[in-house]
Amino acid sequence: MALPVVSNPTYELKLHSVDHKIKYRPFLVKEEKILLTALEGGLTEDIVRATKEIISNCCLDDSIDVQKLPAFDIELFFLNLRARSVGETVEIQMACQKTKDCEGETPVKVNLEKIGLEINKDHTDEIKLTNKIKVKLKYPDIDRMTRPPEESQMDSIFEITKACIESIWEDDEIHDIRDYTEQELEDFIMSLNQQQFGKLIGYFNTMPKLKHKGEFTCPTCGSKQESVLEGLQSFFG
Ligand SMILES: [Zn+2]
Repeated sequence: MALPVVSNPTYELKLHSVDHKIKYRPFLVKEEKILLTALEGGLTEDIVRATKEIISNCCLDDSIDVQKLPAFDIELFFLNLRARSVGETVEIQMACQKTKDCEGETPVKVNLEKIGLEINKDHTDEIKLTNKIKVKLKYPDIDRMTRPPEESQMDSIFEITKACIESIWEDDEIHDIRDYTEQELEDFIMSLNQQQFGKLIGYFNTMPKLKHKGEFTCPTCGSKQESVLEGLQSFFG
């Protein structure tokens, strides 16, 4: 006789880039194992691969291609999975930011379920470079956002920008970037002035991000301060 099958609850989640709520299940021992193996190895690319694999396993919505989700939705998804699977509350050690001399650390409890994406109202995916030329950008996926450790910050920004240009508009003419070579695209970006390139970077700086704000009082120096947590890493103290 077969062993009993343990049934697990399912939950719903709204991602920023998906127009409907998606169903998922918490992660199980097999996913925990995938995660721990990757964390033990400590390589960022393995942790990213494990994160995507776990999300694929737990996502019960066939219309979702995890590979194509923007990096921030992957982070939001994983944070919710973790909250449902391991527990809603995590304790994070906040270092004192008041003075350099204070080495006080404060444990701050964060409810993962309360964390959402911070949306910037000035964020737009159509960037006007000149009176004639406009660029349409798309969100980077998590593979794009994961840069080799040896890469310089400038190279990373350049590569992410290159990967996220969807089309270039010249008055009414739309150039779909897929019709052009990588070299042509690089030449285009290289021909921009700093202010124009800055506008493109502004898109990435203002895209949705995981953020949590709270307050704590440093037990060592007694000063009250704000705790700001951003990005998936910061929630796993
Ligand atoms: Zn302090």
